[in-house]
Amino acid sequence: MADMVNESPWPSATPSPPPPPAGHDYAPAARAVVVAAVLLGALAAVAYWAWHQPFMAYPRYLTELARMPVPTQQPVPVQGVKAGSIADTFGAPRGRDRRHHGIDIFARRGTPVLSATHGVVASIRDQGLGGRQVWVMGPGRERHYYAHLDDWAFGLAAGDPVRPGDELGTVGDTGNARGTPPHLHYGIYGADGPLDPLPRLRAPKAVVANEADDLDATAKAPANR
Ligand SMILES: [Zn+2]
Repeated sequence: MADMVNESPWPSATPSPPPPPAGHDYAPAARAVVVAAVLLGALAAVAYWAWHQPFMAYPRYLTELARMPVPTQQPVPVQGVKAGSIADTFGAPRGRDRRHHGIDIFARRGTPVLSATHGVVASIRDQGLGGRQVWVMGPGRERHYYAHLDDWAFGLAAGDPVRPGDELGTVGDTGNARGTPPHLHYGIYGADGPLDPLPRLRAPKAVVANEADDLDATAKAPANR
């Protein structure tokens, strides 16, 4: 009789249940454990399958973006403008209690404004100092701010994925730039606040090509070489 009492069906890591009376039938408890394990396994398999379906491409892309390293080189986000011609005004005082949290890239009104990174359009707004503006969530969860736009690119909508060079809008003077020479105000906000974009625009180009290739490679079917 005593041999039955010390044999527990439970793993030793979990607290032992009160000892069952002698002659207790362990089969139902064991069956419940097996059924729970099978259900959990099936649930995990379904979740894995769903995550890799086409309808999950957008959340997958957001996850991939967040994991990507922040770029060390970026193209100038205004068509035809060279990085060397952009003044370094990041951090410059603006009025009594503000600082310039970005750089100004001057160009003729209507010049295309192009995304400087891979990303997803987070919002499209017309408000405040920035006027007509686009926010893009980029690699490493950095937020890229394109402001004073004359207009937005036709059909651009929040949630759109973008690549470097995709048009976001055109250079203008909306918001508090009204009446000044048309320019793009471009800002980058990381986890610790605003960053100076200019060093990235001035960095040698080879680096960004590799990063873009990496992302393109993962986005394409494995069969493509
Ligand atoms: Zn500015």
